[in-house]
Amino acid sequence: MNKPDTNIELDKIEINEDIVRYIGKLADDLGYRVYIVGGYVRDYYLKRQREDFDFTVIGDSIAFAEKIAELNRTKAVVYTAFRTALVPLRGYKLEFVGTRKEEYLPDSRKPIVSEGTLEDDLKRRDFTINAMAVSLNKDTFGEVTDIFDGKSALEDKILKTPLEPEITFSDDPLRMLRAVRFASQLGFNIDESAFLAIRAMSGRISIVSRERIADEFFKIMKSAKPGSGFRILYETGLLEYVFPELAKLSGIETVQDIDRNYAHKDVLLHSLQVLDCISESTDNVWLRIAALVHDIAKPQTKRFIKGSGWSYHGHEEFGARKLKHIFNQMKFSKEHLPYIEKLVRMHHRPMALVDEGVTDSAVRRLASQAGDALEDLFMLCRADITTKNPNLSAKYLNNYDIVTQKVIEVQEKDKLREFQSPVRGDEIMQICKLPPSQTVGYIKTTIEEAILDGIIPNEYDAAKQYFMENKDTWLLEFKGSKKAKKQ
Ligand code: ATP
Ligand code: MG
Repeated sequence: MNKPDTNIELDKIEINEDIVRYIGKLADDLGYRVYIVGGYVRDYYLKRQREDFDFTVIGDSIAFAEKIAELNRTKAVVYTAFRTALVPLRGYKLEFVGTRKEEYLPDSRKPIVSEGTLEDDLKRRDFTINAMAVSLNKDTFGEVTDIFDGKSALEDKILKTPLEPEITFSDDPLRMLRAVRFASQLGFNIDESAFLAIRAMSGRISIVSRERIADEFFKIMKSAKPGSGFRILYETGLLEYVFPELAKLSGIETVQDIDRNYAHKDVLLHSLQVLDCISESTDNVWLRIAALVHDIAKPQTKRFIKGSGWSYHGHEEFGARKLKHIFNQMKFSKEHLPYIEKLVRMHHRPMALVDEGVTDSAVRRLASQAGDALEDLFMLCRADITTKNPNLSAKYLNNYDIVTQKVIEVQEKDKLREFQSPVRGDEIMQICKLPPSQTVGYIKTTIEEAILDGIIPNEYDAAKQYFMENKDTWLLEFKGSKKAKKQ
């Protein structure tokens, strides 16, 4: 256990945020002792910017929060059972908690909360890096209370619990998931004893609400290398509870065929690699989720075909159809379901296009089906190349370059299709002495085709010259074609 050490040298930090200094001034004016705690102090040392602030108040935190709200003509949102109050002020979220002691009964998530000392309050926090408090009262302004030596843990990039990990985690099992989230977000390691405790107690996460789990899930997804968080979830056994469908992707099967052993790749590890790869290029959390689940139906479609190897025929379609269930299970907002379904359903299409031949019409079909998601689909396809063979990887990337180039060309052409011949109908009618008729349309289209085919530039003078040189032939051609149709 990390024993409280009261001999630690007192650190003093510089607080520059006006809003935090203002709360300190009010604390003096109104006669409260107030500290800023948790994430703020941690992020101060890590030099991370923040917009939400947590304050610990000795005494009646709710009365203090309500007074602040009243002075600023706003309203405090009060959670009496937890003795906390939230005050939205100047675009910031200020949370006030009375220093408290928490006692948990087995198998209940609801603690019995009573008033406690600052030390009681820091003990009930999740990790030592989150258990530092800084005084905001004038006489001790900026002084850090760090009884669990969170500062060293920050320097060592390590997540340790203030109490025995089994106690911290069994009091609130969500803390196990928070450990993984902070590890992923900050690039920290989980202290060995805490890691082992999580592994032994992972099943306890099932008493935590899906909403709280989803909150941490999204924070992991938004971190720079979300795959690292999922690897820890897997290693600790939490993944089975947090995202059961994903846990099923783990494992390698080997089959002995005529000449040799055939092992397929571990789909979970592959998916996490794709996730990390796409996260280098996008912050769009839904595109990241698409990368995470793109092969979700591989286990159910897996077949070994003698003489050929492993096949996952239809996994894209099965995967897309599984997503609704996954969204329900994970309590994800359905708003983004169609987008992810589309990406999962189509993630092999650009590659298949190369094999089938990249014709204009195939490219048009792909682009129209993908719609707004076309660029994201290509990003997913590129991230999906995880082969260790550099020649193969270069070949696949080149294939995607070809398809992307072709999409651009076809879209350019199609955009041009909407244009009009620079030589307009009136002029054609006047020069050829024609009434408004199909013949005029035929001549206009012929000029437009010549521009599309690159025979002449899209300019009036060139089009006029081309028209003058060819009009007699076209008139004859058109007459001929009409005759042919009649017969
Ligand atoms: P961030 O807001 O960047 O996600 P944070 O550290 O501020 O990180 P919050 O969830 O806002 O996290 O919580 C504020 C503080 O409250 C934490 O720093 C921690 O001290 C404490 N805390 C929050 N949730 C728990 C919990 N489940 N168990 C114990 N302490 C917690
Ligand atoms: Mg916070």
